Amino acid sequence: MLDVIIIGSGCAGNTAAIYTARANLHPLVVAGKEPGGQLSLTTLVENFPGFPEGVDGPALVENMKQQAINFGAEYIHGQVVEADLSDRPFKLRIDDEWFESRTLIIASGASARWLNLPNEQKLIGHGVSSCATCDGFFYRGKKIMVIGGGDSAMEEANFLTRFGDSVTLVHRRDHYRASKIMLERARNNPKIRMLTDTIVEDVYDVSQNLVSRAKLRNLKTNEAWDEPVDGFFVAIGHIPNTAPFIGQIDLDPDGYIVSKGGARTSRVGVFHAGDVQDRSYRQAITAAGAGCMAAIEAERFLEAEGH
Ligand code: NAP
Repeated sequence: MLDVIIIGSGCAGNTAAIYTARANLHPLVVAGKEPGGQLSLTTLVENFPGFPEGVDGPALVENMKQQAINFGAEYIHGQVVEADLSDRPFKLRIDDEWFESRTLIIASGASARWLNLPNEQKLIGHGVSSCATCDGFFYRGKKIMVIGGGDSAMEEANFLTRFGDSVTLVHRRDHYRASKIMLERARNNPKIRMLTDTIVEDVYDVSQNLVSRAKLRNLKTNEAWDEPVDGFFVAIGHIPNTAPFIGQIDLDPDGYIVSKGGARTSRVGVFHAGDVQDRSYRQAITAAGAGCMAAIEAERFLEAEGH
Protein backbone atom coordinates (compact mmCIF):
# COMPACT_ATOMS: atom_id res chain seq x y z
CA MET A 1 0.00 0.00 0.00
CA LEU A 2 1.48 3.32 -1.09
CA ASP A 3 0.84 6.74 0.40
CA VAL A 4 0.93 8.54 -2.92
CA ILE A 5 1.09 7.69 -6.58
CA ILE A 6 1.93 10.53 -8.95
CA ILE A 7 0.84 10.09 -12.53
CA GLY A 8 3.11 11.99 -14.90
CA SER A 9 6.75 13.01 -14.91
CA GLY A 10 6.65 16.52 -16.34
CA CYS A 11 7.20 19.67 -14.29
CA ALA A 12 4.02 19.12 -12.28
CA GLY A 13 4.63 15.45 -11.48
CA ASN A 14 8.32 15.92 -10.70
CA THR A 15 7.68 18.86 -8.39
CA ALA A 16 4.95 16.89 -6.59
CA ALA A 17 7.50 14.07 -6.30
CA ILE A 18 10.16 16.35 -4.78
CA TYR A 19 7.73 17.65 -2.16
CA THR A 20 6.10 14.33 -1.26
CA ALA A 21 9.45 12.53 -1.16
CA ARG A 22 10.88 15.20 1.09
CA ALA A 23 7.85 14.69 3.35
CA ASN A 24 8.79 10.99 3.59
CA LEU A 25 5.77 9.79 1.65
CA HIS A 26 7.86 7.62 -0.71
CA PRO A 27 5.96 8.58 -3.85
CA LEU A 28 5.74 6.28 -6.83
CA VAL A 29 5.90 8.28 -10.06
CA VAL A 30 4.43 6.78 -13.21
CA ALA A 31 6.50 8.28 -16.01
CA GLY A 32 3.80 8.01 -18.68
CA LYS A 33 3.93 7.85 -22.45
CA GLU A 34 5.69 11.20 -22.78
CA PRO A 35 8.27 11.07 -19.96
CA GLY A 36 9.35 14.56 -18.98
CA GLY A 37 6.20 16.08 -20.45
CA GLN A 38 6.17 19.13 -22.70
CA LEU A 39 9.61 20.34 -21.57
CA SER A 40 11.16 17.26 -23.08
CA LEU A 41 9.92 18.54 -26.46
CA THR A 42 11.63 21.92 -26.20
CA THR A 43 15.22 23.04 -26.44
CA LEU A 44 16.18 26.24 -24.62
CA VAL A 45 13.83 27.46 -21.86
CA GLU A 46 14.40 31.13 -21.13
CA ASN A 47 11.48 31.94 -18.86
CA PHE A 48 11.93 29.49 -16.00
CA PRO A 49 13.06 31.67 -13.09
CA GLY A 50 16.56 31.10 -11.78
CA PHE A 51 18.39 30.58 -15.07
CA PRO A 52 19.63 33.95 -16.38
CA GLU A 53 21.17 32.32 -19.45
CA GLY A 54 18.23 29.98 -20.02
CA VAL A 55 18.25 26.25 -19.48
CA ASP A 56 17.88 23.24 -21.75
CA GLY A 57 14.27 21.97 -21.35
CA PRO A 58 15.00 18.22 -21.27
CA ALA A 59 17.90 18.83 -18.83
CA LEU A 60 15.69 20.94 -16.55
CA VAL A 61 13.03 18.27 -16.26
CA GLU A 62 15.62 15.51 -15.85
CA ASN A 63 17.22 17.50 -13.00
CA MET A 64 13.84 17.78 -11.31
CA LYS A 65 13.45 14.01 -11.55
CA GLN A 66 16.94 13.45 -10.13
CA GLN A 67 16.14 15.84 -7.28
CA ALA A 68 13.02 13.80 -6.45
CA ILE A 69 14.97 10.52 -6.64
CA ASN A 70 17.59 11.95 -4.26
CA PHE A 71 14.81 12.39 -1.70
CA GLY A 72 13.53 8.83 -2.21
CA ALA A 73 10.95 9.04 -5.02
CA GLU A 74 10.64 5.94 -7.17
CA TYR A 75 9.96 6.20 -10.91
CA ILE A 76 8.49 3.47 -13.06
CA HIS A 77 8.06 3.41 -16.79
CA GLY A 78 4.60 2.69 -18.00
CA GLN A 79 1.16 4.11 -18.32
CA VAL A 80 -1.98 4.05 -16.27
CA VAL A 81 -4.40 2.07 -18.39
CA GLU A 82 -7.21 1.58 -15.88
CA ALA A 83 -8.25 3.16 -12.61
CA ASP A 84 -10.76 2.35 -9.91
CA LEU A 85 -11.24 5.41 -7.74
CA SER A 86 -14.66 4.38 -6.40
CA ASP A 87 -13.22 3.40 -3.01
CA ARG A 88 -10.08 3.90 -1.02
CA PRO A 89 -7.38 2.76 -1.38
CA PHE A 90 -7.41 3.85 -5.01
CA LYS A 91 -6.50 1.15 -7.48
CA LEU A 92 -4.49 1.76 -10.63
CA ARG A 93 -3.44 -0.65 -13.32
CA ILE A 94 -0.06 0.41 -14.67
CA ASP A 95 0.51 -1.61 -17.80
CA ASP A 96 -0.22 -5.14 -16.47
CA GLU A 97 0.17 -4.59 -12.75
CA TRP A 98 -2.33 -3.24 -10.18
CA PHE A 99 -1.14 -0.78 -7.50
CA GLU A 100 -2.97 0.60 -4.46
CA SER A 101 -2.52 4.03 -2.95
CA ARG A 102 -4.07 6.19 -0.25
CA THR A 103 -3.79 9.33 -2.39
CA LEU A 104 -3.32 10.11 -6.03
CA ILE A 105 -1.84 13.11 -7.80
CA ILE A 106 -2.86 13.28 -11.43
CA ALA A 107 -0.22 15.24 -13.35
CA SER A 108 -0.61 13.46 -16.66
CA GLY A 109 -0.61 16.66 -18.72
CA ALA A 110 -2.23 17.53 -22.01
CA SER A 111 -0.57 16.43 -25.19
CA ALA A 112 -0.32 18.88 -28.04
CA ARG A 113 -2.32 17.85 -31.03
CA TRP A 114 -0.04 17.55 -34.07
CA LEU A 115 -0.74 17.61 -37.78
CA ASN A 116 0.99 14.23 -38.32
CA LEU A 117 3.02 15.50 -41.26
CA PRO A 118 5.82 13.18 -42.44
CA ASN A 119 8.61 15.47 -41.10
CA GLU A 120 6.81 17.21 -38.23
CA GLN A 121 8.05 15.12 -35.28
CA LYS A 122 11.65 15.16 -36.59
CA LEU A 123 11.71 18.96 -36.47
CA ILE A 124 10.12 19.52 -33.06
CA GLY A 125 12.49 21.81 -31.16
CA HIS A 126 14.21 22.70 -34.46
CA GLY A 127 11.66 25.08 -35.93
CA VAL A 128 8.48 23.13 -35.22
CA SER A 129 6.80 24.08 -31.95
CA SER A 130 3.46 23.84 -30.16
CA CYS A 131 4.16 26.70 -27.76
CA ALA A 132 4.52 30.32 -28.86
CA THR A 133 5.24 31.55 -25.32
CA CYS A 134 8.10 29.07 -25.08
CA ASP A 135 9.69 29.44 -28.48
CA GLY A 136 8.50 32.70 -30.10
CA PHE A 137 11.56 34.60 -28.95
CA PHE A 138 13.82 32.48 -31.16
CA TYR A 139 12.15 33.84 -34.30
CA ARG A 140 12.95 37.51 -33.95
CA GLY A 141 12.87 39.10 -37.40
CA LYS A 142 11.99 35.75 -39.01
CA LYS A 143 9.10 34.30 -40.99
CA ILE A 144 6.58 32.58 -38.77
CA MET A 145 3.68 30.32 -39.64
CA VAL A 146 0.84 29.38 -37.29
CA ILE A 147 -1.59 26.56 -38.05
CA GLY A 148 -5.15 26.52 -36.68
CA GLY A 149 -8.38 28.43 -36.62
CA GLY A 150 -9.27 28.48 -32.91
CA ASP A 151 -8.51 30.92 -30.08
CA SER A 152 -5.09 29.35 -29.49
CA ALA A 153 -4.06 30.00 -33.09
CA MET A 154 -5.28 33.63 -32.92
CA GLU A 155 -3.57 34.21 -29.60
CA GLU A 156 -0.32 32.65 -30.75
CA ALA A 157 -0.35 34.51 -34.08
CA ASN A 158 -0.89 37.85 -32.35
CA PHE A 159 1.76 37.10 -29.75
CA LEU A 160 4.26 36.02 -32.39
CA THR A 161 3.98 39.32 -34.29
CA ARG A 162 6.09 40.76 -31.44
CA PHE A 163 8.98 38.74 -32.77
CA GLY A 164 8.45 37.74 -36.35
CA ASP A 165 8.78 39.85 -39.46
CA SER A 166 5.57 38.29 -40.67
CA VAL A 167 3.11 35.73 -39.37
CA THR A 168 1.14 33.59 -41.80
CA LEU A 169 -1.94 32.03 -40.22
CA VAL A 170 -2.98 28.90 -42.07
CA HIS A 171 -6.46 27.44 -41.54
CA ARG A 172 -8.06 24.47 -43.29
CA ARG A 173 -11.52 26.07 -43.64
CA ASP A 174 -12.79 29.57 -44.45
CA HIS A 175 -14.77 29.72 -41.22
CA TYR A 176 -12.97 30.27 -37.93
CA ARG A 177 -13.76 28.54 -34.66
CA ALA A 178 -12.07 31.36 -32.74
CA SER A 179 -14.10 33.89 -30.74
CA LYS A 180 -15.01 37.06 -32.59
CA ILE A 181 -12.80 39.33 -30.52
CA MET A 182 -9.71 37.15 -30.97
CA LEU A 183 -10.38 36.77 -34.67
CA GLU A 184 -10.81 40.53 -35.15
CA ARG A 185 -7.59 41.20 -33.30
CA ALA A 186 -5.76 38.89 -35.69
CA ARG A 187 -7.51 40.36 -38.74
CA ASN A 188 -6.58 43.88 -37.68
CA ASN A 189 -2.94 43.04 -37.08
CA PRO A 190 -0.99 44.29 -40.12
CA LYS A 191 1.75 41.69 -39.58
CA ILE A 192 -0.67 38.77 -39.89
CA ARG A 193 -1.58 37.30 -43.25
CA MET A 194 -4.47 34.85 -43.17
CA LEU A 195 -4.68 31.90 -45.54
CA THR A 196 -7.97 30.01 -45.52
CA ASP A 197 -8.98 26.70 -47.11
CA THR A 198 -5.32 25.80 -46.91
CA ILE A 199 -3.64 22.72 -45.50
CA VAL A 200 -0.02 21.93 -44.80
CA GLU A 201 1.28 18.86 -46.57
CA ASP A 202 4.75 18.82 -45.02
CA VAL A 203 7.48 20.90 -43.40
CA TYR A 204 11.16 20.91 -44.40
CA ASP A 205 14.22 20.63 -44.07
CA VAL A 206 15.18 17.61 -41.98
CA SER A 207 18.59 17.34 -43.67
CA GLN A 208 19.52 20.78 -42.27
CA ASN A 209 17.84 20.10 -38.91
CA LEU A 210 15.82 23.30 -39.19
CA VAL A 211 12.66 24.62 -40.75
CA SER A 212 13.08 26.51 -44.02
CA ARG A 213 9.76 25.96 -45.84
CA ALA A 214 6.34 24.36 -45.69
CA LYS A 215 4.37 22.81 -48.50
CA LEU A 216 0.85 24.22 -48.60
CA ARG A 217 -2.20 23.34 -50.67
CA ASN A 218 -5.30 25.38 -51.30
CA LEU A 219 -8.23 22.99 -51.03
CA LYS A 220 -10.49 25.04 -53.29
CA THR A 221 -8.09 25.55 -56.19
CA ASN A 222 -5.90 22.50 -55.48
CA GLU A 223 -2.87 24.73 -56.05
CA ALA A 224 0.21 23.59 -54.09
CA TRP A 225 3.25 25.69 -53.31
CA ASP A 226 6.28 25.96 -51.06
CA GLU A 227 6.16 28.81 -48.56
CA PRO A 228 9.41 29.97 -46.92
CA VAL A 229 9.15 29.77 -43.12
CA ASP A 230 11.53 29.70 -40.15
CA GLY A 231 9.23 29.06 -37.20
CA PHE A 232 6.31 26.64 -37.64
CA PHE A 233 3.79 26.77 -34.79
CA VAL A 234 1.05 24.16 -34.56
CA ALA A 235 -1.91 25.50 -32.56
CA ILE A 236 -4.67 23.00 -33.25
CA GLY A 237 -5.54 22.17 -29.66
CA HIS A 238 -4.43 19.91 -26.84
CA ILE A 239 -5.73 16.58 -25.61
CA PRO A 240 -5.74 16.18 -21.81
CA ASN A 241 -4.51 12.76 -20.74
CA THR A 242 -7.49 11.74 -18.65
CA ALA A 243 -8.87 8.70 -20.48
CA PRO A 244 -8.50 6.29 -17.50
CA PHE A 245 -10.47 8.69 -15.27
CA ILE A 246 -13.56 9.18 -17.40
CA GLY A 247 -16.59 8.62 -15.18
CA GLN A 248 -14.46 8.58 -12.01
CA ILE A 249 -13.76 12.26 -11.40
CA ASP A 250 -15.42 15.36 -12.83
CA LEU A 251 -14.00 16.28 -16.25
CA ASP A 252 -15.14 19.17 -18.44
CA PRO A 253 -16.53 18.50 -21.92
CA ASP A 254 -13.02 18.58 -23.42
CA GLY A 255 -11.70 16.09 -20.85
CA TYR A 256 -9.79 18.50 -18.56
CA ILE A 257 -10.08 17.84 -14.81
CA VAL A 258 -12.54 20.18 -13.11
CA SER A 259 -10.85 21.69 -10.07
CA LYS A 260 -12.75 21.80 -6.80
CA GLY A 261 -10.42 24.46 -5.42
CA GLY A 262 -6.70 24.30 -4.65
CA ALA A 263 -5.52 21.00 -6.11
CA ARG A 264 -8.71 19.09 -5.25
CA THR A 265 -10.69 17.02 -7.73
CA SER A 266 -14.26 15.82 -7.22
CA ARG A 267 -12.87 12.68 -5.52
CA VAL A 268 -11.53 13.19 -1.98
CA GLY A 269 -7.87 12.13 -1.85
CA VAL A 270 -7.31 12.60 -5.60
CA PHE A 271 -5.46 15.78 -6.53
CA HIS A 272 -4.62 17.46 -9.83
CA ALA A 273 -1.47 19.26 -10.96
CA GLY A 274 -0.49 20.97 -14.19
CA ASP A 275 -1.84 20.97 -17.72
CA VAL A 276 -4.28 18.13 -17.10
CA GLN A 277 -6.42 20.73 -15.34
CA ASP A 278 -4.97 23.98 -16.72
CA ARG A 279 -6.01 24.96 -20.22
CA SER A 280 -5.06 28.55 -19.75
CA TYR A 281 -1.44 29.05 -18.59
CA ARG A 282 0.33 25.78 -19.49
CA GLN A 283 3.76 26.96 -18.40
CA ALA A 284 6.57 24.98 -16.81
CA ILE A 285 6.56 27.31 -13.82
CA THR A 286 2.78 27.16 -13.28
CA ALA A 287 2.86 23.36 -13.62
CA ALA A 288 5.68 23.19 -11.07
CA GLY A 289 3.68 25.43 -8.72
CA ALA A 290 0.63 23.25 -9.17
CA GLY A 291 2.70 20.14 -8.40
CA CYS A 292 3.81 21.75 -5.15
CA MET A 293 0.18 22.57 -4.24
CA ALA A 294 -0.99 19.02 -4.93
CA ALA A 295 1.84 17.56 -2.85
CA ILE A 296 1.07 19.80 0.12
CA GLU A 297 -2.62 18.92 -0.11
CA ALA A 298 -1.87 15.18 -0.27
CA GLU A 299 0.45 15.51 2.72
CA ARG A 300 -2.15 17.38 4.78
CA PHE A 301 -4.84 14.91 3.77
CA LEU A 302 -2.77 11.93 4.90
CA GLU A 303 -1.81 13.67 8.13
CA ALA A 304 -5.46 14.44 8.91
CA GLU A 305 -6.20 10.74 8.42
CA GLY A 306 -3.41 9.79 10.81
CA HIS A 307 -0.91 8.38 8.29
P1 NAP B 1 -9.90 24.51 -30.78
O1 NAP B 1 -10.86 25.57 -30.40
O2 NAP B 1 -10.33 23.09 -30.71
O3 NAP B 1 -9.42 24.83 -32.27
C1 NAP B 1 -8.58 23.97 -32.93
C2 NAP B 1 -8.37 24.50 -34.32
O4 NAP B 1 -7.43 23.67 -34.98
C3 NAP B 1 -9.65 24.50 -35.18
O5 NAP B 1 -9.71 25.66 -35.94
C4 NAP B 1 -9.47 23.26 -36.03
O6 NAP B 1 -10.01 23.41 -37.32
C5 NAP B 1 -7.98 23.20 -36.20
N1 NAP B 1 -7.56 21.82 -36.39
C6 NAP B 1 -7.78 20.73 -35.60
N2 NAP B 1 -7.19 19.65 -36.10
C7 NAP B 1 -6.61 20.05 -37.27
C8 NAP B 1 -5.85 19.37 -38.24
N3 NAP B 1 -5.57 18.08 -38.16
N4 NAP B 1 -5.39 20.08 -39.31
C9 NAP B 1 -5.64 21.41 -39.42
N5 NAP B 1 -6.36 22.10 -38.51
C10 NAP B 1 -6.83 21.43 -37.44
O7 NAP B 1 -8.55 24.56 -29.92
P2 NAP B 1 -7.84 25.81 -29.23
O8 NAP B 1 -7.75 26.94 -30.17
O9 NAP B 1 -6.59 25.29 -28.62
O10 NAP B 1 -8.82 26.21 -28.06
C11 NAP B 1 -9.20 25.25 -27.07
C12 NAP B 1 -10.10 25.92 -26.04
O11 NAP B 1 -9.35 26.88 -25.28
C13 NAP B 1 -11.24 26.71 -26.68
O12 NAP B 1 -12.37 26.60 -25.85
C14 NAP B 1 -10.74 28.13 -26.69
O13 NAP B 1 -11.76 29.09 -26.69
C15 NAP B 1 -9.91 28.17 -25.39
N6 NAP B 1 -8.85 29.19 -25.51
C16 NAP B 1 -9.12 30.45 -25.10
C17 NAP B 1 -8.16 31.43 -25.20
C18 NAP B 1 -8.46 32.81 -24.74
O14 NAP B 1 -9.61 33.13 -24.59
N7 NAP B 1 -7.47 33.62 -24.47
C19 NAP B 1 -6.92 31.15 -25.75
C20 NAP B 1 -6.66 29.85 -26.18
C21 NAP B 1 -7.65 28.88 -26.05
P3 NAP B 1 -11.59 23.36 -37.57
O15 NAP B 1 -12.12 24.65 -37.07
O16 NAP B 1 -11.69 23.18 -39.04
O17 NAP B 1 -12.09 22.17 -36.80
